[in-house]
Amino acid sequence: MASSWQLPAEIIALSRAKTWVAAVQEWDLDYIERLEAGEDSESCLCGNTPIIELCHIINTKTQNTAVVGNHCIQKFEKDDPAHAVFGNAPKVFRSINKLLNDSKATASKALLDYASKKGVLTKSQLRGYEEDKGKRNLRFCELKYRVKINNLLIFGIAVKTEKAAYKRLFQDPDHDTTAGPKLIKYAFEKRVLTKSNYDFYIKIWDKAHGSLTVKQKKYKVDLNKKIINQLKADFIDNREIQNSCSSSSSYSSSSSIISSSTNSIRTAAEKRKKREEEEDFDLIDLSSSSEERVTIRSAKRSRNVIESDDEISEF
Ligand SMILES: [Zn+2]
Repeated sequence: MASSWQLPAEIIALSRAKTWVAAVQEWDLDYIERLEAGEDSESCLCGNTPIIELCHIINTKTQNTAVVGNHCIQKFEKDDPAHAVFGNAPKVFRSINKLLNDSKATASKALLDYASKKGVLTKSQLRGYEEDKGKRNLRFCELKYRVKINNLLIFGIAVKTEKAAYKRLFQDPDHDTTAGPKLIKYAFEKRVLTKSNYDFYIKIWDKAHGSLTVKQKKYKVDLNKKIINQLKADFIDNREIQNSCSSSSSYSSSSSIISSSTNSIRTAAEKRKKREEEEDFDLIDLSSSSEERVTIRSAKRSRNVIESDDEISEF
């Protein structure tokens, strides 16, 4: 390690142990984030600024948190103890960047492993995705499925800006894409979401839609409709709204895949989705007491949400 590189010393300073080998073991990669152009810039713990690819790390003993740039994580050699702790982040970023450039590309094993570990995809989603992974000529419904899972990966893992998150929600005909933590927080600050709405959504935003209970799914979709309707003026200019309403195609080639569909294809996709949801339903632990509380609270709150959403007819 070059002596001018400040990162190890900064990590040790935030740790209980005072040697590098012991200190780095206290840390874990909490989540990664890719900033968009025009977003507030961030600095790496090493002092480098601005950085776009962020690794949010957490000390499991002290709960101290820090932001380290992917550029620094890449510097750890294979024999460095930090490599085992943070090592996969660069591979995850590489794959995320590929998906951001091409929504029809497939995720790497490193990204899929990371997504499984974080609970972003359910087992059946992962299975379905991997079944089609090697295929070059996908049928329309298979491609639609791949794009949908790629979106889950992008939002569940790279945590995009509120504006980008809003556009994804706006383009999603099912309204079941996740809003992502930033847009959820933004909607709460703008009083579009109540505190109960916020508490619910912030707890489940990164979970696969298929892994939620039936009530949670409905509640989430209702919140998405509320966000779409009430924050339109914040993120979409009038020209875009007109284009979207007058035509079934949308902003990009990837979203036009989502929004245009024939009846037969829709039926096949729906069948697949239904089968997947039935499978997922078996996988989730319905007896979890915290989940029960969320479900009960969401059922109470959903009456208000539905009332306000009755006005949303253009979607
Ligand atoms: Zn750095």
